[in-house]
Amino acid sequence: MAPIDHPQLAHPAAAHTDFSRSSPLDPESFADRHIGVDEPGLAAVLEALDQRDLDALELAVVPAGIRFGRPLDLPEPATETQTLTELRTLAAKNRPMVQMMGLGYHDTITPGVIKRNVLENPAWYTAYTPYQPEISQGRLEALLNFQTAVSDLTGLDIANASMLDEATAAAEAMTLMRRTARSKSNRFVVDADTLPQTIAVIRTRAEPLDIEVVVSDLSAPDSPLPVGDFFGLLLSYPGASGAVRDQQALIAEAHSREAKVAVAADLLALTLLRPPGEIGADIAVGSTQRLGVPLGFGGPHAGYMAVRTDVQRQLPGRLVGVSHDAAGNPAYRLALQTREQHIRREKATSNICTAQVLLAVIASMYTVYHGPEGLTKIAQKIHLQAGQVASALEAGGITVEHAHFFDTVRALVPGRARAVVAAARQAGINLWADGEDAVQVSVSEKTTAEHLRLVVESFGAETTDAPWVPEGDAPTRTSQFLTHPVFHEHRSETAMLRYLRRLSDMDLALDRSMIPLGSCTMKLNATTEMEAVTWPEFAGLHPYAPLEDATGMLELVDQLEKWLVEITGYAAVSLQPNAGSQGELSGLLAIRAYHRSRGDEHRTICLIPASAHGTNAASAVMAGMKVVVVGTDDGGNIDMADLGAKVAQHADNLAAIMVTYPSTHGVFEDTITDLAALVHGAGGQVYVDGANLNALVGVARPGEFGGDVSHLNLHKTFCIPHGGGGPGVGPVAVAAHLAPFLPSHPLGLNDTGTFGSIGAISAAPWGSASILPISWAYIRMMGADGLRRATLTAIASANYIARRLDEHFPVLYTSATGFVAHECILDLRPMTATTGVTVDDVAKRLADYGFHAPTMSFPVAGTLMVEPTESEDLAEINRFCDAMIAIKGEVDKVGSGVWPVTDNPLRGAPHTAESLAGEWDHPYTRAEAVFPPGVVPARKYFPPVARIDGAFGDRNLVCSCPPIEAYA
Ligand SMILES: *Cc1c(COP(=O)(O)O)cnc(C)c1O
Repeated sequence: MAPIDHPQLAHPAAAHTDFSRSSPLDPESFADRHIGVDEPGLAAVLEALDQRDLDALELAVVPAGIRFGRPLDLPEPATETQTLTELRTLAAKNRPMVQMMGLGYHDTITPGVIKRNVLENPAWYTAYTPYQPEISQGRLEALLNFQTAVSDLTGLDIANASMLDEATAAAEAMTLMRRTARSKSNRFVVDADTLPQTIAVIRTRAEPLDIEVVVSDLSAPDSPLPVGDFFGLLLSYPGASGAVRDQQALIAEAHSREAKVAVAADLLALTLLRPPGEIGADIAVGSTQRLGVPLGFGGPHAGYMAVRTDVQRQLPGRLVGVSHDAAGNPAYRLALQTREQHIRREKATSNICTAQVLLAVIASMYTVYHGPEGLTKIAQKIHLQAGQVASALEAGGITVEHAHFFDTVRALVPGRARAVVAAARQAGINLWADGEDAVQVSVSEKTTAEHLRLVVESFGAETTDAPWVPEGDAPTRTSQFLTHPVFHEHRSETAMLRYLRRLSDMDLALDRSMIPLGSCTMKLNATTEMEAVTWPEFAGLHPYAPLEDATGMLELVDQLEKWLVEITGYAAVSLQPNAGSQGELSGLLAIRAYHRSRGDEHRTICLIPASAHGTNAASAVMAGMKVVVVGTDDGGNIDMADLGAKVAQHADNLAAIMVTYPSTHGVFEDTITDLAALVHGAGGQVYVDGANLNALVGVARPGEFGGDVSHLNLHKTFCIPHGGGGPGVGPVAVAAHLAPFLPSHPLGLNDTGTFGSIGAISAAPWGSASILPISWAYIRMMGADGLRRATLTAIASANYIARRLDEHFPVLYTSATGFVAHECILDLRPMTATTGVTVDDVAKRLADYGFHAPTMSFPVAGTLMVEPTESEDLAEINRFCDAMIAIKGEVDKVGSGVWPVTDNPLRGAPHTAESLAGEWDHPYTRAEAVFPPGVVPARKYFPPVARIDGAFGDRNLVCSCPPIEAYA
């Protein structure tokens, strides 16, 4: 690659101080604000790439065979003001009623200090997953609080840092139990009194794994477990009907039959009820939604899972642990990474990648703000009010089915259920009718005395203050919880505000600097896109409310689906999957169902290139497929010879190939259409992993160049913020022949896939519905031209970086024409071989320069993958390149012996403020350590901890808040 030698390029703004020239920026155009590189900047970038304009760049970079020849058919772009007006209009069509339906979703009060300073605060929502722990201590502490709260409340040893929702958490518990139970049976028993969405997702997940799900009525006090072997049991506590039962005997019996037991539990109820860990459960799962997270029409919310230490290494998902840094101070980082899909691939414990971090942070802060006393009071008030409903109904001659409940009263009203629910709706309240004969009333933190009166009147009864005094005892909690000081020190709003600020100040998020993470597409999450998320008309919708309450939401969903169909060239889209990993699983299950519908049960081989993202292999296994790895050639492309051989070898049993396009190597491979033809020729389906869609939107459509199915990551290409590791949305888009197999929902809501559907993939019908307005607003404001310009600018900026850095860190792969796509891999292996400086050293040193490191060692070990996205302006891109070049200068000093490899600014990185005081016995100066070239002292970001020893933390696993003495 030709190096760029334009000193003026480093500061293009300086060349344009002539303000008499009219600015090319249109103040009304959102695209001009979203795309960071302005016209003069773009001119400089294109000049460096020897391209006349973006059209010429497109011709040079994107293979002719896949180019999409026309503009996308999307509405003309709207301004930010117009878009907000349109969103207000859609919002006004929704009716957020008083929600008392329960069924896993409960209204809650998000404390204002948390809503504004976490949910609406870019310092929290624009952060990335804490894989670089030194610049992520704030969110890691928040997640450690989450884990501590969950393990305390459930009475179990260790909890992870969030699951995608309660239903998928239960399904993950099922497979965990299968891996760890002594029984080798393939049967899994589920208490019939379990949430319908949980049973549905369990069935979806069980089918490809040959697990037989036995739903059993265990409601009577002496109900026996089914005869015969089973490996696991799932109980609900309280049940979907609201019933609270003493499950100790059932658990003991299951254990005696060599099965493991999971309990789906309501964390708020556990402030009053004896926790699962104390009644013998091995696992607890559930939702943390009612801890301050809005209903949001079903999500996003953080699910949870807690286990005993004997199976902690089998725990799916991300886990925060305590270790120490180079100075011996306690420090947090993700623990036991080797369990995860990005390391273990098809042997991983789960395919979970993006989880629900932002929502877990909200839930954890709710527990911090209220503390054990506050949570207990909230729970007691809820329980008392539920009791008042029960007393009033019984006084009115209505049978209350269960004597013991926490928040949900189940009333038997033979033949009258619909009428009661209709009467309550007249009063503005949603209740749940279970068939014709039963109504469930679920009390929440928001329930008032007036709500209770209206509810009771809907039944034709009269209110009473009489408490509910059932016969016998519910299993009551006596043990303490949330005893750690963090749950006691931040009770005033001032203290809470400062705690939140202190934590977010420790972290690098997009609101401070570029996050050049390849494959992750860390682009602008515009404020206007974010606005509607917390509006009550979206945030206050219960996912099971009558659809007429959600008219505006559904209109938005329908438009977004149509736009994504147009953008991808597929026939249909389901928005139900709540992360890319779940979209992958849905797509693969659709492929499986398609083959089976044609009598091809034997088609179970899934070809996956060696360079694929770890979720691909993990998802394939979850879909009951067998992974066969296809090699890559020296140029980083799929080895077509190897592919041909593998296709021929497995032709009869070929189910699918999963390819990422452009490839995970950041290159537009021109063999993609041949590849698709080859696989189709053998009867296989082509899964195009859409994580790199930011290089395609408006330029090429996977549904047109050979794909049968793709998942998209709305939290990458379509502006949903990463939230520190979630939430996400992973829609699955399919060609017409796969459309009948798309996800459905047990309550008949959002049945995109009708006949032949794979079933429910997420708990809620539209998954993480409340964040869909973000992607809707992005497309609405960009329009066809803006989206295409964004794609080509992202490609231009990546190529600009590749050219600037190639002579310092060789760019590993380019296409035949010498270009990369929207990201580039910098090869640090030659540097490591000659100097001993590692990719880790460079990544950590970037923090001293105020940058988040690029993606490390994916897809190639010893490399960094850089993706600038279209949102970064040229000044920031140059600042990053300058930092990388300065770091290369430091590496050279190690190489030439000026600094020893064991003691230099790279190995010592990152440097904390503490390194400015006390002893200093390094061969480089303090100034060189903390104020490297380009770092202005007044704007300096200091990482709060030095390099963290991850291995120490894995050997000495601590995954809840350490006692305060540890900080002494
Ligand atoms: C991000 C990513 C995924 C997984 O998506 P999640 O939303 O994190 O589950 C899959 N494949 C590729 C190539 C990715 O970059």
